[in-house]
Amino acid sequence: MKCPSHIAKHTEEDTMSTTPGLYDTTHGTPTVRLLINGEFIDSLASEYSLVINPATQEVLARVPCSTPAEVDAAVAAAQAAFKTWKTTPIAARMRIMLRFQALIREHLPRIAAVLTHEQGKTLADAEGDIIRGLEVVEHACSVGTLQLGEFAENVAGGVDTYTLRQPIGVCAGITPFNFPAMIPLWMFPMAIVCGNTFVLKPSEQDPMSTMELVALAVQAGVPPGVLNVVHGGKDVVDALCTHPSIVAVSFVGSTKVGTHVYELASRHGKRVQSMMGAKNHAVILPDANKEQSLNALVGAAFGAAGQRCMATSVAVFVGAAKDWLPDVVSRAKLLKVNAGVQPGTDVGPVISQRAKARIESLIAHGAEEGADLLLDGRGVVVPGYERGNFVGPTVIGGVKTHMQVYTQEIFGPVLVTLNVDTLDDAIALVNANPFGNGVGLFTQSGAAARKFQSEIDVGQVGINVPIPVPVPFFSFTGSRGSKLGDLGPYGKQVVQFYTQTKTVTARWFDDSSVSTGVNTTISLR
Ligand code: NAD
Repeated sequence: MKCPSHIAKHTEEDTMSTTPGLYDTTHGTPTVRLLINGEFIDSLASEYSLVINPATQEVLARVPCSTPAEVDAAVAAAQAAFKTWKTTPIAARMRIMLRFQALIREHLPRIAAVLTHEQGKTLADAEGDIIRGLEVVEHACSVGTLQLGEFAENVAGGVDTYTLRQPIGVCAGITPFNFPAMIPLWMFPMAIVCGNTFVLKPSEQDPMSTMELVALAVQAGVPPGVLNVVHGGKDVVDALCTHPSIVAVSFVGSTKVGTHVYELASRHGKRVQSMMGAKNHAVILPDANKEQSLNALVGAAFGAAGQRCMATSVAVFVGAAKDWLPDVVSRAKLLKVNAGVQPGTDVGPVISQRAKARIESLIAHGAEEGADLLLDGRGVVVPGYERGNFVGPTVIGGVKTHMQVYTQEIFGPVLVTLNVDTLDDAIALVNANPFGNGVGLFTQSGAAARKFQSEIDVGQVGINVPIPVPVPFFSFTGSRGSKLGDLGPYGKQVVQFYTQTKTVTARWFDDSSVSTGVNTTISLR
């Protein structure tokens, strides 16, 4: 599919092609299909939302709000498929993941273009979004060693104990708008390669690139019913969280919704992992490498228009490092704001007009509360994309911890800055913030770094690394308002999340064994 014909074409790059069969095109605007039991089918929904290109406002697709019967059908298909999928040999499951990763590589530029159109991020960053998810698929190819149990020989005379890591059943995943490739790929590949079946509910704001990846999973050989997709918002999410046949729910999104999902699904007896909002600090010590640190800070604050859960949104300058603030402003001013499809773009549009209005109102509130607007990105107009949801890089100085620009997740290209006297003050400040997703320390002192990593209460810690998203053999994590549930996505933790440990204690008798009589104690003899 090309963009619908009413979409203005700005450049050669401003086109995308999608996989035939993923959309119902009989009603003009393409309507995203559901995936149930291996078939891409039309929803009978009565309500729809729209996928809107954030750089142009053009409607790319309609997204149905799946009916309760469709959610039930997706879960029933997953439940039926679980019966055979759970006993499918591990090697067969891994081979599907090997084919899947090869297909993602083959289609990467095409899916990146779809992602840029629906989400707004630059083409290079869209490729990064897919590649960070692809790494999880590559890791899923080695589940044979990840899902190993343990074995202890002779725990008592002739008795061995061993563990099995068995799949748990039908799992559900609910994903946010900001990483429509990476986060679905955090979820369903690891869930299904462990032997579970899955129902995915992508973000209704940008489900098109997610559906491209789902189509590749089907093409790679994921059997009917093992992976299913429903669409919608709150009603569909709540139906998944309360469905009696779903055993586990993975959620990534805002703290408000994630807390609701965690509480609702837990109350209904499910395992839940809820990865939520953030206010990520970068602490800059005066001994840091100035050039490297400021470049890292500006890239992490304004890349992806500040809509990464690991974006740096607060800079904390320690001591004399506060003198570097004007350099941050001058670097931020140089960033190019434009549509993601345009070469050389640093900062694309934010996801929606609503998001833009919210970001601008928080900036205004910061000024009203007495902070200094050192660089104000409101009112940016991009020639050729006058209707785009653009907010330029914004730097706010003189921020105090009670101000809304500090207490709230802004999720836009806005960096708020604070000054403190010592590393201890910086650690106390970060630990007092309600969120605990990511943090960075910039220094050349190993002693300061070691103290920081030990005392800071944040899930992902970067030492001179601005966006420390762990590679897939580790797990993503978080503290306080950024995570609920003890096991995070991917890595070893997610294998634990998606499997149930069974402990077997076994003794075998041959015909020559001598009876020791009846034993009425608990001890093994
Ligand atoms: P969101 O919470 O609005 O939406 C996430 C999902 O929840 C979507 O699929 C949406 O349809 C659904 N949803 C929305 N409102 C709901 C409701 N009232 N009840 C039930 N379900 C509902 O999040 P978003 O705006 O799509 O994504 C941005 C947020 O995600 C930011 O807060 C960001 O920090 C966070 N995020 C966190 C991580 C992490 O790993 N910690 C990663 C990416 C994004």
